[in-house]
Amino acid sequence: GRGGAPGMTSAPPDPGALLDVRGLAAGYHDIRAVWDISLAVQPGRVTALLGPNGAGKSTTVLAIAGLVTVFAGSISAGGLDLRRLGPHERPARAGLSVVQEGKRIFRRRSVEQNLRRGLWPVRRQGRRALSEALDETYERFPVLAERRGSQAGLLSGGQQQILAIAQALISKPRLVVLDEPSIGLAPVMVDHVLDIIQGLRADGLGVLLVEQLVDAALTVADDVVVINRGRVAASGTVDAVGGLEAIRRIYLEEIAEQPLPAPSAGVDPDHRCPA
Ligand code: ATP
Repeated sequence: GRGGAPGMTSAPPDPGALLDVRGLAAGYHDIRAVWDISLAVQPGRVTALLGPNGAGKSTTVLAIAGLVTVFAGSISAGGLDLRRLGPHERPARAGLSVVQEGKRIFRRRSVEQNLRRGLWPVRRQGRRALSEALDETYERFPVLAERRGSQAGLLSGGQQQILAIAQALISKPRLVVLDEPSIGLAPVMVDHVLDIIQGLRADGLGVLLVEQLVDAALTVADDVVVINRGRVAASGTVDAVGGLEAIRRIYLEEIAEQPLPAPSAGVDPDHRCPA
């Protein structure tokens, strides 16, 4: 239902959830950007994290990835406390793959080199398993097979996003976090990304989908968390929250209450995922 009631953070994490965030406060050095975020992702389900510009979506994603300061709250995956793991350990130990907004790929490396980077969490599996994973990825994303030797920066924006998603999937994670995967994409590519997400859900993965496009997100979401100013404004199943119209209303009310959005400071553009 509606309301981001604080004080619900003492319940133990749900060991069945692929991701369980409770009462998260996080930010940059000593500056808080989110105050009280709670959300969960279950296997075979898509949770949409929605909210206007500056609401704290990317900060929440970075906290899950271990890349910003966490001041309070818990972040767990399958009962495992992620706060005790460094960012480099989370993919391998918790089956977590994160596609950060705007930091998609190494543009000057080839498509294949980028995909191989995605194998880093499973690098101990041996040559054969790694080359099979690469083959499977090319089978699933033929456009990447055709361009495997090309410089990634020469792909179209949509193809680069597919590469970023493929790189995140190649290690066979249980949970995928996608921060605004549709940003800047043509509608046909947005649909393609949504199809990929549907496929992940059908395969039993959990997906945390961060979006500004509410309608697009709701075509694939099972659960929804609407945040604003670093706090939860509404959360529950899409039906429980009232479906598209209700979510849109909450979203618009929140935007109306907001002062003009400050330009997003973003994070250091040179900072990249562990490789
Ligand atoms: P957008 O849709 O614009 O990406 P968002 O919901 O992802 O927005 P965040 O990027 O998480 O929002 O921003 C939340 C708050 O944190 C904002 O007030 C933003 O200005 C601030 N913020 C973001 N990055 C930094 C940073 N590197 N240093 C300090 N503050 C930051």
